[in-house]
Amino acid sequence: MLASMPLPLLSLRSMEPKWIFRIVLVLLLLCTIVAWQYEQHQEQARIAAAFDELAARKAAQVHARVNGYARTLLDLRGLFVADPNVSGDEFRRFLQGIEATRRYPALMHIGYAPRVTAANQASLERRLRAMGLPDSQLAPGALPVLYGYPAPGPLLGQQLGLDDTARRALARARDANMPQLTAQLPLRGDPAREPGFVMVLPLYGYSTAPAGVAARRIALSSYLFAAFRTADLVSSTIGADLAQTMRLALFDAPATVAGRLVYDSGGAAGGDQRYRSIQHAEVGGRPWTFVFVALPPFVRAARSMLPALVLAGGIVMSVLGAALAYVGSRRWLAEGTVRYLAFHDELTALPNRARLRAAIVEALGQPGQASRLALLIVELTRFRDINYTLGHLTGDEVLRQAGARIGGVVGHAGLVARISNVQFGILLRDADEAAAIAMAQRLMVAMEDPLPAHDSKYEVGARAGIATAAGPEGRPGDPDDLVRHADIALHRARSNGAAWVVYDAALDPYKPQRLALLSAFRQAIKDDQLEIYCHPKADLGSGRITGAEALVRWRHPEYGLLTPDQFIALIEPTELIQLLTQRMLECALRHSAAWRGDGVALPLAVNLSTRNLLNPALPELVAGLMNTCGANPSWIALEITESSIMDDPALSLRVLNRLHAMGFELVVDDFGTGYSSLSYLMKLPVSVIKIDQSFTMSMTTDPDAAAIVKAMIELAHALGLKVVAEGAETKEVWDALARLGCDEAQGFYISEPLPADAFRRWLQRAPSALALTAS
Ligand code: C2E
Ligand code: CA
Ligand code: CA
Repeated sequence: MLASMPLPLLSLRSMEPKWIFRIVLVLLLLCTIVAWQYEQHQEQARIAAAFDELAARKAAQVHARVNGYARTLLDLRGLFVADPNVSGDEFRRFLQGIEATRRYPALMHIGYAPRVTAANQASLERRLRAMGLPDSQLAPGALPVLYGYPAPGPLLGQQLGLDDTARRALARARDANMPQLTAQLPLRGDPAREPGFVMVLPLYGYSTAPAGVAARRIALSSYLFAAFRTADLVSSTIGADLAQTMRLALFDAPATVAGRLVYDSGGAAGGDQRYRSIQHAEVGGRPWTFVFVALPPFVRAARSMLPALVLAGGIVMSVLGAALAYVGSRRWLAEGTVRYLAFHDELTALPNRARLRAAIVEALGQPGQASRLALLIVELTRFRDINYTLGHLTGDEVLRQAGARIGGVVGHAGLVARISNVQFGILLRDADEAAAIAMAQRLMVAMEDPLPAHDSKYEVGARAGIATAAGPEGRPGDPDDLVRHADIALHRARSNGAAWVVYDAALDPYKPQRLALLSAFRQAIKDDQLEIYCHPKADLGSGRITGAEALVRWRHPEYGLLTPDQFIALIEPTELIQLLTQRMLECALRHSAAWRGDGVALPLAVNLSTRNLLNPALPELVAGLMNTCGANPSWIALEITESSIMDDPALSLRVLNRLHAMGFELVVDDFGTGYSSLSYLMKLPVSVIKIDQSFTMSMTTDPDAAAIVKAMIELAHALGLKVVAEGAETKEVWDALARLGCDEAQGFYISEPLPADAFRRWLQRAPSALALTAS
């Protein structure tokens, strides 16, 4: 968890929501198509099953009609069994009685044909002649039609069973004692000679059929028959269906044999071939095959809305789903970005200070780890040269490279974070002081190699402050303490010019009294324990004292005189800093007023800190104090550090603009230590820059520092600003500054900061006592 984890979120952030929309849309549409296809398939199966069922019903209807004919013949046989001498009238009356023609409209003809034997030949010939058929020549075995219904008809006297198919049916019926159907034949009784079938049923001489084929052949006495047109059979049963919902091809065969097609309602090929049902039936002893094909009206009626609904619904849901994914991913990515930015430094993509602190808190919470935790704060040393001479783009690139290099050295040993402009925090796991020092040394060595940026290489150094988490009694410390300790160590490294320093509680100026000091400070203000020390500055050309800076001192009842570095950093994050500033302004104005009463008109500079600049009420506060003292703005200058402006440039600028408008001289303090660009600072209403003492003090020994001081002076002058150099500690520095054309200097060479009264006395001697002019 401590390992550097710079980029996974970045790669997700780079995935655009519109691509997520497209991908989700395509996936959902594919699912929709699959579901739609499936549903269509199901639908077809459903329709096919429904059509099969309908076809089976229709085939059964036709079959039942033919069975009806058989039934009629069987009923009729009952009449002959009861009385073998049925007359023609009785025959017709019976059929009328059972309403045969009404029940079976397609029935064309029902007839009776006795078998001619030697015994009945003469009487049959007589009867036929009596019926007006004089030339009927009968021979034994012939089957002349004797009765007919509904009309006695053209068949009377004609022979039954003249062709093969009729003869075979007659023989089958006789042997089986069952109604049997002929194959299809042209109907002789039909004037149009249309194709049809004849069903035949045998009668035996005895009332019941004898058992056995041989006995039946002997006993056969006559046949009953019924003839019907194929077309009439079909149209009178399922004609309506054939007109609207289906087509039929009927084969008088067990299968679809082309030569045995006996009925075709209009080309079975015409319908919807997806729905085709084949039905078989045993009709009058013959296997029939029905081939039904659905017509579009049937398919339309059977079709459901489901597939269309699935398709339409699927498309709508796909778009909705994709839109949801789009919105969701945007939100998710935005949250990810916010989360990412909250814990990462944008420039280097490394974790930031907040992430580092979270990691410290987490590590301190783990029992095994807490005491084996070390924090290094690494600060780049010559970085500002790059920023000043080459500008920000190069500076940014160098910072990125520095971050990458530090990350490379630390590897999985810890977490690397960028915690301020030129500082990197490195949290080492499982490291004691020796391991932390070894890491610091490795880092210093690594940073000795120039860093590449924009086709060039830049020399950047580094220093480090080191702290371990073990508390005073070996207990884990406070997370903020760890950072503070590393900070203090870094501070010492900076002021000692050391590459690295390990925190030493004995040398921590804040440590023992920290909390006590905070509560004591409020009391200190009430009890007037704060004092002003005045630190003069002088004109480098004439040596004349031009003003003084008001520096705070705390005369602590127990600890004695405390300097600002012992308490300012402590109170700065709290509202106490407002009280301090207010008190300093009051004191400065009071002293100024007193001196002016004596004819000494020296401006006093008061230091403002970040929180003062962020306090929109500051200008009113200052104006109020001025009123009470009857002061005017030329009495006071205000010093603001570069870094404090950069904390919230917009708000600071508003406050500074108002102070400037009120007539105060604004001074940029510690110039050169921050990260702000000179061009940005020039937008501020400032008129003086104060070069930080770290440059000034080393300018006589370090040519780089001298070059920077020279560049700063020239740049500031080019921009019309006055330049004051702090830290003029020696005559060499004073002279060097004078040579460079610096306007004023402040430092121990002129004087140490003095209590206000001592300063007042010093002033009286100063112009003569000090030979400050450059030699
Ligand atoms: P600063 O504003 O940069 O003040 C200059 C500091 O440098 C003073 O330290 C001064 O004694 C020291 N100094 C000046 N010339 C030389 C020199 O030639 N050699 C050396 N070695 N040091 C020199 P001091 O008084 O300890 O103040 C430290 C810092 O505390 C100040 O730095 C300022 O940031 C802060 N400070 C002091 N008084 C106040 C105050 O009233 N309000 C606020 N907000 N900050 C204050
Ligand atoms: Ca200052
Ligand atoms: Ca300063």
